[in-house]
Amino acid sequence: MKTILVLLLLIPAAFAQPVLDTSKSPSAVLHGVPVSAVKVGDGFWSPRRKATVETSLPTLLVLFEENGIIDNFRRVSGRKDVPRRGPVYTDSDVYKWLEAIGFALQSGDAPAGLRKSAEAVIDDIAASQDKNGYINTSFMGDKVAQRHTAMRGNHELYCLGHLLQAGIAWQRGTGDRKLLDVGVRMVEYLIRDFGPGKKPIFEGHPEIELSLIELYRSSGDRRYLELAKYFLEGDPRNVDKVRPQDLVYLNTVIPFTSRTQLEGHAVRSMYACSGATDYYMETGDKKYQAVLEKLWADLGTKMYLTGGVGSRAQGEAFGESYELPNRAAYTESCAAIGNMFWNWRLLQATGDGKFMEVFERALYNGANSGMSLGGNLYCYRNPLELIGDPKDKIRNPWYNTTCCPPNLQRILMSLPGYFYSTSKDGLWVHLYDNNSMKWKLEDGTAVELNQVTKYPWEGRVELTVAASGTFTLHLRKPVWSHNAKVTVAGATVTPAVEKGYLSIRRAWKPGDKVVVEFDMTPRLTASNPLVRDNIGKLAIERGPLVYTMEGLDQPAGTALFDWRIDARNPFRPEWQNGMLGGVVTLKHAALRPSKPHAERPLYGEVLKTPMVRGEIMLIPYYAFQNREPTAMQVWIPYR
Ligand SMILES: [Zn+2]
Repeated sequence: MKTILVLLLLIPAAFAQPVLDTSKSPSAVLHGVPVSAVKVGDGFWSPRRKATVETSLPTLLVLFEENGIIDNFRRVSGRKDVPRRGPVYTDSDVYKWLEAIGFALQSGDAPAGLRKSAEAVIDDIAASQDKNGYINTSFMGDKVAQRHTAMRGNHELYCLGHLLQAGIAWQRGTGDRKLLDVGVRMVEYLIRDFGPGKKPIFEGHPEIELSLIELYRSSGDRRYLELAKYFLEGDPRNVDKVRPQDLVYLNTVIPFTSRTQLEGHAVRSMYACSGATDYYMETGDKKYQAVLEKLWADLGTKMYLTGGVGSRAQGEAFGESYELPNRAAYTESCAAIGNMFWNWRLLQATGDGKFMEVFERALYNGANSGMSLGGNLYCYRNPLELIGDPKDKIRNPWYNTTCCPPNLQRILMSLPGYFYSTSKDGLWVHLYDNNSMKWKLEDGTAVELNQVTKYPWEGRVELTVAASGTFTLHLRKPVWSHNAKVTVAGATVTPAVEKGYLSIRRAWKPGDKVVVEFDMTPRLTASNPLVRDNIGKLAIERGPLVYTMEGLDQPAGTALFDWRIDARNPFRPEWQNGMLGGVVTLKHAALRPSKPHAERPLYGEVLKTPMVRGEIMLIPYYAFQNREPTAMQVWIPYR
């Protein structure tokens, strides 16, 4: 009877978990609010989440089946006699897809059919595991001899990291440990055979650290933290096993704390930084803190306006500082997502809103652009300029390396978990959209908060608090909003802004309403001239959204690259209900030469060309190329 009671008490806890459980992390200032505690209502994010649940997740499973990706597991278990298909890392894509469904189950947004499909896939995965705990469909059965032979490219531990994250999300969404136990068995296999005093091993792609540390947080088993440390520190026995340039590219093998700048493969780098920040939160290691601060400062010279990172196609890598070409921008969706993961962790570690600024920038722009409005096409690259060549297919249903689609799915399905945090002194609001939150403060006081807003289309947010007690409500004040008008229970207040948050401390009464009005005036954004591509150009932003110009929206018969902004003229916001799922467009009286650029010679003397006026229109960047192939530019020449 006692056991049953204990189980009953434990079961709800499995469901009430944040994205990262930093509740006991000694060096975390903020602590997550469970995904299940936040219900996202109709607003900006609901159509994106609906498209994920209703279209993206089901159609990706169909594509997995068509491309043999689930069969890879059935092949190993003997359930199907088929050749292995796809690159070595395909297992990870299935795991990310499962993780997304795990999050959807946490927030109660996954339909029963999707859960059933996922359970069948989990069954196929579990049936394929070796008796010794090893699992990776690329190195089992007839391929077992290749196991741990080419650690640089094999992605064995990368796949395991995603398996663990999926297992954790699934367990938190359902209470079922089946998938997590598969992952834990492979971790135990690693701990048995590898590490200090045993065989050396390294990961060719950081990822396992994040998952091992979350596994440590949820289990309390310190060996998992120690294993994460082993990967972050690198094993000196591995250094001569890779080429010197790979020490940069891989972002592994050598100690994380030896890094001096963001370099190499961008997704690897962002995941490495995320894992290192997790490690810092658990240990308070000052060496890690110093390196993370240095690398974050470097991000300030290597990030696109959209929050995307990794400008070079060669090696899918970071370029030099200020090397941010627009048309050639690589900016993989996964890298923007990695940037969000890292900044979310830094925010939890410090409570500093500068990290949430980056998170929100990448969320609304460089990551949000990665999935089409319909939820069935994905960007691998997210460039800031296109010439409009129909052959230049930027959105596709499937990629041979299909890492980005399920990464976008897991971000959108876990989104409720990124709205709030708690700290010793109160509640933090990071993101604005219609939602209701029901959770507790760290002293146990029950708290409910309801947001009503048309953000990001309008700047007004109404927050109704249902709690009794004295605590601080920390409301994020984005830096782009030069002022923020605040009323509390009808009275105008001017709260102090601390590290990007408006701090409102008072004895709250149920029904107290806070109204914040952010400044949504369209902004002309200039770029540091060291970004050579952007000299003589401006970008337009409104609220958290970066805007872009697409050729098909401009006056008929004109070429996109002929247009120039007239910086003296305003940008008029206009709600367009039937366009791109409902967006605020910006209209502007711009200029173009009377003689199109295309009719002028390549070189010639400087001419004073007469200019003609016309009205141009901009749309939010995330919605680019959702209609027909057309030219596009974020950075626009100006006068
Ligand atoms: Zn990707």
